[in-house]
Amino acid sequence: MSYSPYTPVDPDGLVGDLNESQREAVTHAGSPLLVVAGAGTGKTRVLTRRVAWLVAQGIQPWRILAITFTNKAADELRRRLEQLPGGTDVWAGTFHRFGSFLLRRHGNEIGIDTGFTILDRDDQLSILKAIYKDLDLDTGVLRPVDCLAGISHRKNGGGGRAPVDLTMQGVAATFDAAYDSYVRRLRGADLLDFDDLLLDALRLLQECEHVAEQYRSRFAHVLVDEYQDTNLVQRDLLMEVVGENGLITVVGDPDQSIYRWRGAAVRNILDFDDHFPGTHTVLLERNYRSTAHILAAAEAVIERNSERHAKRLYTEQAGGKLVHVTRARDGEDEGRIVAHRVAEWQEAGRRLDHIAIFYRVNAMSRGIEIALNQSGIPYVVVAGTEFFQRREVKDVLAYARLVSNPKDEAALMRVVNTPRRGVGAASLRKLRDFADDHGLALGEAARRAGEAGISKRAANGIERFLALIDRARAMPPAPVAPILEALLEGSGYRASLEDSPDDLDRSRLENVDELVAYAREFAKRNPEGDLAAFLERTALVSDQDGYEPGTGRVMLMSVHAAKGLEFPCVLIAGAELGYFPHGRNLGDPASEEEERRLFYVAMTRAKEELAITHAARRTTYMGDEPRVASPYLGDIPGDSLDSEDHAAWGAPVAWGRSSAGSASFDFDAPADPFPADDLPPGDMPGEDVVRDAGGIGLEVGERVIHPYFGMGRLESVGGGGEDTRVTVDFDTHGVKQLLLRHARLEKLT
Ligand code: ATP
Ligand code: MG
Repeated sequence: MSYSPYTPVDPDGLVGDLNESQREAVTHAGSPLLVVAGAGTGKTRVLTRRVAWLVAQGIQPWRILAITFTNKAADELRRRLEQLPGGTDVWAGTFHRFGSFLLRRHGNEIGIDTGFTILDRDDQLSILKAIYKDLDLDTGVLRPVDCLAGISHRKNGGGGRAPVDLTMQGVAATFDAAYDSYVRRLRGADLLDFDDLLLDALRLLQECEHVAEQYRSRFAHVLVDEYQDTNLVQRDLLMEVVGENGLITVVGDPDQSIYRWRGAAVRNILDFDDHFPGTHTVLLERNYRSTAHILAAAEAVIERNSERHAKRLYTEQAGGKLVHVTRARDGEDEGRIVAHRVAEWQEAGRRLDHIAIFYRVNAMSRGIEIALNQSGIPYVVVAGTEFFQRREVKDVLAYARLVSNPKDEAALMRVVNTPRRGVGAASLRKLRDFADDHGLALGEAARRAGEAGISKRAANGIERFLALIDRARAMPPAPVAPILEALLEGSGYRASLEDSPDDLDRSRLENVDELVAYAREFAKRNPEGDLAAFLERTALVSDQDGYEPGTGRVMLMSVHAAKGLEFPCVLIAGAELGYFPHGRNLGDPASEEEERRLFYVAMTRAKEELAITHAARRTTYMGDEPRVASPYLGDIPGDSLDSEDHAAWGAPVAWGRSSAGSASFDFDAPADPFPADDLPPGDMPGEDVVRDAGGIGLEVGERVIHPYFGMGRLESVGGGGEDTRVTVDFDTHGVKQLLLRHARLEKLT
């Protein structure tokens, strides 16, 4: 064995508590390794252990590259490796961070200034809007957001989803003009967007053999979590780093692939062996996370997807609580139900931070927040990007970005006149023309503002502004907090907030202070972290990076942000057609399957309790409208389900369990989960009033709505009294016979 400065630790301590397949994966040697397994089977645990195990085998930690899905996960990995000698030297981070890491070191080999700035979506959009203005492009022909998605689509060689047909007449010209200008402007100002981080890193490795070789020999082992959500560029990047004979380990679950819309290719996992020949595959089948009912429910939902390989999953946590589904009368009622459920869990001894509430669209959090507030339940919305999207935070970061990259056009436009320095839109326009005429970046043109034909006042303002940036640039690049302070004082930004009579500016000031505190925290964790590293960190936060365990508060988050996490109690709100699946993805089978996977991801986050709510009506941007339960609910096996209805017959129902057993539901009927538009009424025997219950008459031929099966047509009625049975032809679930007493049918108005 070769000499290693790292003392190996007892390998047995690392695999003793693993099952046999997990141990096989952790200790596998000599060939690429693929671990495919369902949710909660210990994939992430295997990956982390494998890193530790490799270190214990004498592999130097800095020779290990571990790609995680979020920065948080990377921090977590490093934290776990802390007790191993040199453990924190493992390179751990996201694909984007890895791209940035390579380009900061070797970008100049392919003509990229290593002082580049990373643009977030917001910056991209503001640049694009400026381009629209400058080129007189029509936002009615192609909305800037769609144009942005199109740019990503084209950059990725057709990966991802094109929002609109970009080749359509009229659209094409606008798109091409915007695209060219966008690419040119970014290049001219040393700006990279998220796509560039990956694409340019790949180009670097492909074009510069010596750089690729350097990393191939450095990284003896490459490991990737959540492999099902990688795209083709990421895969190619891995192939470059791993090389012909390198060792790679990936773990993933095709059923949890939820980023197809962003270009993720499930094929990466299915064809893994083609890209990394000689792959050894390990399947994990025991789920350690969830109780049997939760697992059965989740499995029943995902089984309906046709584009999948069946997997076997079992748990030894037999039984457990039933999956609790509640139909609310409306959105407000749902909020109350959610708050009530949380309170119940709390009374039963649950910690609040062991409870998570998921929703499909971020806008849904508002109603839940109101209800939690009213009940005095502390909560936190997990959205890491939110803080960094705030106006004042972006302003301060824009100053800092200019210090790091003087050409950063997006940053310059943002703060050159904030606070006011007499540099108005007209001056900027002239500056832009001057820049274009002389082939300069806007930041370079600003240095020659005197020649650009703008007013003396504006030119003076720009000069003062640049002097401030230059002073900050003369400071040591680390630690970062003093640089931010100097910018805040020197620019008068802080003073303008302090002097403002506006209450909002108070809280803006707090956010600015929070950013400075974040910079201090960053310095503590990354003693060598300079301004560029700090800016990279703030640019690459993802929603999930906002997740902080142990807050003592209920966690609210989108399902996408919940990936990889787990909680003892989970509540999924808004389980309705339109959210689950999302209305945008109806009609396209592949997208519909992705929606189902998303629901599977949501359900499988739960360890012990899973509650689901949906509303019979909801006020959406379309107005107040009836809502149909998510078809996924109909797939949950009756004996794992406990349902409650607050909206039956339109009347409020007291708290407590509904006696409605699910035995009379035929849950296993083959389903086309996506409804067609309302069917034409057909031949309706209008007079045939069947029953008038709860004040609502139902007639044969009438359109009805059911909490699980959605909309349908009442076909016939049989039996009588308690045993009255109805036959309904549901639009999506086919013909069902239901016991009227339990059926909770409502007339569709
Ligand atoms: P996901 O598909 O959601 O990413 P995963 O497959 O990565 O899940 P992990 O998060 O690694 O699964 O593990 C799920 C839970 O099971 C964790 O709480 C983990 O600690 C636990 N677990 C995994 N393996 C074992 C084991 N052998 N013994 C005890 N607990 C385990
Ligand atoms: Mg995992």
